[in-house]
Amino acid sequence: MSAFDALAASAHLQALADKHRIKMTYRQSGWQSFPSTRQAWVPEPSTAKRYLVALHELGHIASATARRRGNQDYPALGVEVLVEGAAWAWATAVADPTLLLGVTKREWSDVFSYFGSYLLYACMQAPPASMPSI
Ligand SMILES: [Zn+2]
Repeated sequence: MSAFDALAASAHLQALADKHRIKMTYRQSGWQSFPSTRQAWVPEPSTAKRYLVALHELGHIASATARRRGNQDYPALGVEVLVEGAAWAWATAVADPTLLLGVTKREWSDVFSYFGSYLLYACMQAPPASMPSI
């Protein structure tokens, strides 16, 4: 496998940020997005997984479905699951597929657990009557 093209990933992220009028800042940690001010704190895309996570944060602003209502409001668990899922869907839809080839099985599993944590939390909070019967 060839080395990850961090320059191409960075250029792609900046192009998307410009297109969607997002002020994107690379940070070591504390990645999040602020739809009301169109700012996103994202990881520097030195690996395919970090590129995907950066796309996810941009998605929270660029995608109307993935945009949170309010800054840290979690109005309803179902909405939060929808918002997170939409941000991952946006990220994978706009990603350069050649750059995503570098995401390892382990890293996809990490992404699954990020999203899965919202599903699990919603499941634990849901009243029994709303639990699906399987
Ligand atoms: Zn998110």
